[in-house]
Amino acid sequence: MLARLGALGDLPDKAVRLRSLRINGEVALDMNFLREAGQLIVSQAWVEERLRDRLSALGVEIEWNTPISAVSGRDWLVGCDGAHSAVRKTAGIAFEGQPVMENFLLRDVHAEWDLDRESIHLFVDGPRMTTLFPLPGDIWRVMSPDGGRWTPGPVDAVVWESTFRIHRRQAATYRRGNVLLAGDAAHIHSPLGGQGMNTGLGDAENLAWKLALVVQGRASAALLDTYEAERRPVAARVLAATTPATRWALQPGRMTQRLRDFTWPLMTLPVVQRRLVRAASQLDVRYSGPLAAGRRGGQRVPAFARTGRWVLAGPATCLEVARERLGDVVHHERAGDTLLMRPDGHLAWRGPNSPERLSAWLNEVLGVPETPKQTTRS
Ligand SMILES: Cc1cc2nc3c(=O)[nH]c(=O)nc-3n(C[C@H](O)[C@H](O)[C@H](O)COP(=O)(O)OP(=O)(O)OC[C@H]3O[C@@H](n4cnc5c(N)ncnc54)[C@H](O)[C@@H]3O)c2cc1C
Repeated sequence: MLARLGALGDLPDKAVRLRSLRINGEVALDMNFLREAGQLIVSQAWVEERLRDRLSALGVEIEWNTPISAVSGRDWLVGCDGAHSAVRKTAGIAFEGQPVMENFLLRDVHAEWDLDRESIHLFVDGPRMTTLFPLPGDIWRVMSPDGGRWTPGPVDAVVWESTFRIHRRQAATYRRGNVLLAGDAAHIHSPLGGQGMNTGLGDAENLAWKLALVVQGRASAALLDTYEAERRPVAARVLAATTPATRWALQPGRMTQRLRDFTWPLMTLPVVQRRLVRAASQLDVRYSGPLAAGRRGGQRVPAFARTGRWVLAGPATCLEVARERLGDVVHHERAGDTLLMRPDGHLAWRGPNSPERLSAWLNEVLGVPETPKQTTRS
């Protein structure tokens, strides 16, 4: 996704590459089969820095220290203002859910421990549990669900620490009129599996091309309803999976420990591990909502997923139709079925080499724009 946005930069070189999850030193989850990128651990601050650099290169200036206190006017507004979203509250959208776990301690520490730095380490001692994540440099992220401060060796210095409560919540709707929500403003859940930021970036990418088409006068505002139809189930699935997984993996207490001991052998099965890693990486996201058309419609297409633009693989006659409705479209000659790929790397349309059929589908999903077509890109 970051590569598509032109914001990947040197992150893969700076990241820690994860190979496994170890429990009390033994490999319990092998992640080596993830060939596409592997599992990378990188500071969120660096990801945000790369995104800011990209915005700046595109000429966008961020207005810092400018809190939103009220919402008015008829422009589009996307509330990406986090779990306590003022935009969500102002729009009167409920944030439904409940707390999952109290007293969750998180610390980033400098330490030289005799541990493999390509693994997440889970140390279980009876009902107590500590998880250690290797971060770039000599930093370890220490998570203790019961607020405990055990570490496997001396800590040289604490970078920062915080105790927090994990909630599971999702906005009742992602759109109210011209107000839309994305990221933590729309959903929050346990950090287990590391999916919060990734899900939010996925929201933003899904929404961006739709909003661009509406603002450019190429699509009706009804297209924006497909944003919620496609993205809500993705976050709902994350919430549904991470809440029981968090209780199962992290909740202190003898009962949970017994349940864990009893069910753990299942987790070591390769088929279960593959499913877990594919789900947590979100590489298996497929949009089966109102935009999915033709065989494999809505599926990710990794081969064409790096441009961040519309891509048409097929004859030039279909290309003309696509450019007329969508504007900027990259072209690849291709025999067989014509494929139209969305800027977010998912398959939009697959069909015979028929400009009429493609045109009919574009007319159906883009509808009749409410605003006149702009000729410049925005
Ligand atoms: C312990 C922990 C570990 C995590 N680990 C991972 C992980 O491994 N992988 C992963 O993908 N995710 C992880 N996450 C989740 C991730 O940090 C969040 O999902 C992500 O930061 C959400 O991004 P966001 O932009 O939606 O919201 P935020 O990061 O909360 O950003 C909201 C922004 O809006 C601004 N803002 C707020 N109110 C206003 C206002 N009234 N006016 C103007 N601006 C406002 C804020 O200043 C901020 O800049 C973790 C979270 C936690 C707590």
